Amino acid sequence: MPARILDGSQIASDIRKEVAAEVSAMAAGGIRPGLAVVLVGHNPASEIYVRGKVKASAEVGIYSEQHTPSETSTTADVCALIDELNHRNEIDGILVQLPLPPQVDAKKVLMAVDPAKDVDGFHPLNVGFLSTQRPGLVPCTPAGVMEILRRSQIPVAGRHAVVVGRSDIVGKPAAMLLLNANATVTVCHSKTRDLPAVCREADILVAAIGRAGLITHDFVKPGATVIDVGMNKVTDNAEFLRLFAGDSKREETFRKRGSVLAGDVHPEVARVAGALTPVPGGVGPLTIAMLMYNTVKAARMRKGSGLAVSG
Ligand code: NDP
Repeated sequence: MPARILDGSQIASDIRKEVAAEVSAMAAGGIRPGLAVVLVGHNPASEIYVRGKVKASAEVGIYSEQHTPSETSTTADVCALIDELNHRNEIDGILVQLPLPPQVDAKKVLMAVDPAKDVDGFHPLNVGFLSTQRPGLVPCTPAGVMEILRRSQIPVAGRHAVVVGRSDIVGKPAAMLLLNANATVTVCHSKTRDLPAVCREADILVAAIGRAGLITHDFVKPGATVIDVGMNKVTDNAEFLRLFAGDSKREETFRKRGSVLAGDVHPEVARVAGALTPVPGGVGPLTIAMLMYNTVKAARMRKGSGLAVSG
């Protein structure tokens, strides 16, 4: 039986509706959550992501503003802007779009963000809160992974979760969230020996690698839940055929645009897995939905409205 497809777009849309309802309730109390997005220089992919975040904010009723320091900005310039945003009461969330230009020290910049406004959850204080199970702001993509599992009624407690990838942005916080939800967690990376055998142990397999289609059917235990975080641009014809031969819709896109988006999980996994997130339309849409959620949560934590957003 082919895998149940976990519809991330639908789940993200549900979360956005809940956030919009909460924003309206806060408005009745005179509070409007505010998000500042900082985009340094010109990176076409980042510009698209930032546009998406600003648009999503408007749709749920969050006030947002965009700051675009020039490509030649120094670490001190960006930190000065962050400091100004830290002090403005109408700003509840500050998001610094990564990557930053090479001369800007990303670690210093992320440290400069007030942890109470750190809607990306990257500040070491929030990382510490997550690892000690204290309330704080949780990175959006891993938080989205947990929402997919929770809202799809996939049990986590007592299950073996294998996370492939150990980045600070996805792999490590995903592993921590799964551990906090009482999974038995294994974290894999590029030095892991016999990756397919470790992955086959998983009841829940999370792929956050950045390698198109690396997870093939022989990595997956029959019936396992597979969450594909990867977003990879495939431009090579042989690579395209390895992943999508016979997929006429994708072939058309590939011929037209010269590229397609692929996850870290090979499409053949749908024949083995019990449940699977698609790419696109799986984890991706959750990232922005959880950013909206975190902005409202930050506003609630800072301004103490005592409203209903949980977590
Ligand atoms: P990073 O490059 O920071 O981390 C990749 C991780 O994968 C590293 O831990 C690396 O191991 C591991 N890895 C790389 N190659 C292998 C391999 N052959 N075998 C086992 N492990 C391997 O990436 P990110 O965590 O930032 O992103 C991962 C993917 O998720 C990307 O495709 C990215 O585009 C996507 N992404 C999607 C988002 C969304 O909204 N859906 C948001 C953020 C990311 P090591 O540590 O040893 O180098």
